[in-house]
Amino acid sequence: AWAHTARFLVTASQLHQLPQHALPEIAFVGRSNAGKSTAINTLTQQRRLAFASKTPGRTQHINLFELGPRQAADAVLADLPGYGYAAVERTAKLRWQEVMARYLAERSQLRGVVLLVDARHGPTELDQQLLRFVAPRVGTGEVRLLVALTKADKLSRHEAQRSLRAAEQVVGEFVTEHADVGLLLFSSLNRTGLDDLALTLHHWAHP
Ligand code: GDP
Repeated sequence: AWAHTARFLVTASQLHQLPQHALPEIAFVGRSNAGKSTAINTLTQQRRLAFASKTPGRTQHINLFELGPRQAADAVLADLPGYGYAAVERTAKLRWQEVMARYLAERSQLRGVVLLVDARHGPTELDQQLLRFVAPRVGTGEVRLLVALTKADKLSRHEAQRSLRAAEQVVGEFVTEHADVGLLLFSSLNRTGLDDLALTLHHWAHP
């Protein structure tokens, strides 16, 4: 499958270091521990791909991966820094906010954002900040949004439905109902939502 072609492209600690490629870029964002690395690794079927982002000193980096045929990549997956660790100092938080705000508002290659949210907790304050950063471009249709409620295997059917409804309500506070926004239950453990996620990304990259 297309997503399985992913290969490491570049790591950047600052936005101006990101390559100005001509491909559609799809960003993965989420709170630390939401299951982002596991989701990327499951999606790409590469067990350690996204764990490069977790090596010390790299946790605040943006890591790009190419997708598509080796000599003819047709999309870029961007793994953005996880956020929300209580221990992080104030200056680091402010820097994170600035990087995320600018990336989401200004990265011209950006075509889609996958926001990973722990299904048990729902969107946190920082997730909502992110939604606020990207909402204007989602509103115009320039950027698509998919909210993946992760670790769905930990919820009963009833809890999962409740989590979906609660997340839908929060997301609805930031984007108009006509915007192209998806919401799905996801589990890397039992592969819930995996096909939908892969199809969505493919569709974003090949409109
Ligand atoms: P990240 O910080 O967002 O990259 O999160 P990780 O991918 O490192 O996952 C954080 C923790 O959640 C790890 O202990 C994972 O094993 C666990 N985890 C990730 N995805 C799932 C899932 O689908 N189901 C369950 N039950 N645990 C998961």
